[in-house]
Amino acid sequence: MRAIRPPESKQATTLLVAVRCRPLTSKEQTKSRDILRVVDDKVVVVLDPDSSKEYLDRVQNRSKEKKYVFDVAFGPECSNKDVYNVTVGSMIEGVLRGLNATVFAYGATGSGKTHTMAGLPEDPGLMVLSLQEIFGLITKQEQEHDFEVTCSYLEVYNEVIYDLLEKSSGHLELREDPDQGITVAGLKRIQVNSAEKILELLNLGNSRRKTESTNANATSSRQPNALIVCRSHAVLEIIVKRKQRNQYRSQVLRGKLALVDLAGSERASETNNAGQKLRDGANINRSLLALANCINALGKQQKKGLAYVPYRNSKLTRLLKDGLSGNSRTVMVATVSCADDQYHHTTNTLKYADRAKEIKTHIQTNVGTVDAHVADYQRMIDNLQVEVSQLRRELAEKETQLSSRTPEKADDELSWLDVLSHDINENVEMRVNLQKALFELEDMNLHNRMELQQLDELIAQHQDEEGDGEKLDDLIERRQVVLDNIRDNDEAGAHYRQDIEHNEKQRKELQRQIDEAISSNRNKTYLRILSQYRLLGMTNMELQFQMAIRDQIIQDQREALNNMWRLLESSGLNHDQILEIAAQQGIMIEDGMPM
Ligand code: ADP
Ligand code: MG
Repeated sequence: MRAIRPPESKQATTLLVAVRCRPLTSKEQTKSRDILRVVDDKVVVVLDPDSSKEYLDRVQNRSKEKKYVFDVAFGPECSNKDVYNVTVGSMIEGVLRGLNATVFAYGATGSGKTHTMAGLPEDPGLMVLSLQEIFGLITKQEQEHDFEVTCSYLEVYNEVIYDLLEKSSGHLELREDPDQGITVAGLKRIQVNSAEKILELLNLGNSRRKTESTNANATSSRQPNALIVCRSHAVLEIIVKRKQRNQYRSQVLRGKLALVDLAGSERASETNNAGQKLRDGANINRSLLALANCINALGKQQKKGLAYVPYRNSKLTRLLKDGLSGNSRTVMVATVSCADDQYHHTTNTLKYADRAKEIKTHIQTNVGTVDAHVADYQRMIDNLQVEVSQLRRELAEKETQLSSRTPEKADDELSWLDVLSHDINENVEMRVNLQKALFELEDMNLHNRMELQQLDELIAQHQDEEGDGEKLDDLIERRQVVLDNIRDNDEAGAHYRQDIEHNEKQRKELQRQIDEAISSNRNKTYLRILSQYRLLGMTNMELQFQMAIRDQIIQDQREALNNMWRLLESSGLNHDQILEIAAQQGIMIEDGMPM
């Protein structure tokens, strides 16, 4: 029997925005000027990179000097430990109590992201320091609790997930599990017993990250040797499980700390690369852009309530969803170089961080779900099944027409098949995500419309009674906010619909390519495999929708249970009394959820 859980208590999520300025490297010292100043551990001043400007220009404000204020700012003299103490340090204790936390380093290539996250043996970074603290705290609590610490290290490159703990990892898939949240199927998870081992592991993992040489920015165009650019986002996930010792009915708390070393934030358009690399750039931007959009939406949510957070728009945001929303804490460390020739990148990074700052707190909204979705999903499954059976029939018909020639250009055919199968997978996955996002949006707007209706009634009531004017103003103001939300969500929904249309076109094009190949009588074996791929793709989509239905049902049940808890608690019984009554009835209830 599944145990009944009390609702998780809602806690404000906080985003802490820190900026870290790195010193000039010894090479840079001869040719670059330091243009950053950190004041009062909070303010970052960027001086005009053009030092030749006249005094008059400067006082008349024709200077490019800029000033930003953050939660905390670190100057070039600060060590990783200094950054750690003020940012992640205070969150570790919560992770041991089952809370989630996310830390990401954002900045241009060469600004110090990897230095901050992984670090060096003499100056270990946030990843290593976090683990050290985890093990330190565990030693203190070992009397009462059993702990298990596991790590995984992955990269998201070109919207594909690879395992950095595996030598030559294949593509990994994201799964949505209603109990564990987002997981990566097949990802290696290793048990760690000391922090010392981890730096070695991180270095090994980092050496496997997808990199490229580029002359993307000013530093390297002046240098004969081009800069190595990390094109991927690396995510270290540390999971701490805590189990109460010597308890008959023990509960396991599971806290998750995600530390993310993002890809360089410079824009793809700034590189001279073409073709495949531009595509890389576009995909990196997809994740970074999606992250920015989520951060913006979370900020909006704080002000307005039900604003849609587009987590589904990229792999990275889907991966980080737990850590960005709900009962979790997030730290963004924006890294900047103090060199004058990096002025452009530095101000771009600071602007991004400045926008992120707006999210101070937000409370997880418990958006109820609507039964209609199950019907929607079911309809899609039905359509898919029709399509699958049609495909099967066509395939059987074509089978007889095909000649069984031996392969001629085997390699060619295989790589073509490879590309096509990859495209089919991507097409299916995209479709599933778009459809789910659209359902979520519609769900949200249903709630908005319900609220709007209630507000309209209340407003009418107030106007009739000519009652409290201030209250009426509040209602009207709230009505405007809800209307704005509906409009924003409708707009986002229209985009998703367009994307779905585009996705559908792509799907037809893929099908056309297969048909064409079949009619031009290319090799039978390959075509059979290819058609199987397509069938698998469809079946995969069907399964995903079935899983979505299951998730929906679980979520609904959870909501019902939560309501029951609220009801019980509002009856005046306290937690212990409820547990006692339940025990008398032989009902098992999990207690002691994390605060
Ligand atoms: P990114 O990962 O952002 O591309 P890196 O972390 O690789 O950049 O840093 C680029 C270079 O600058 C490296 O040689 C690194 O050792 C050095 N560096 C970065 N941050 C600092 C710092 N705070 N103190 C000293 N050196 C730093
Ligand atoms: Mg790096």
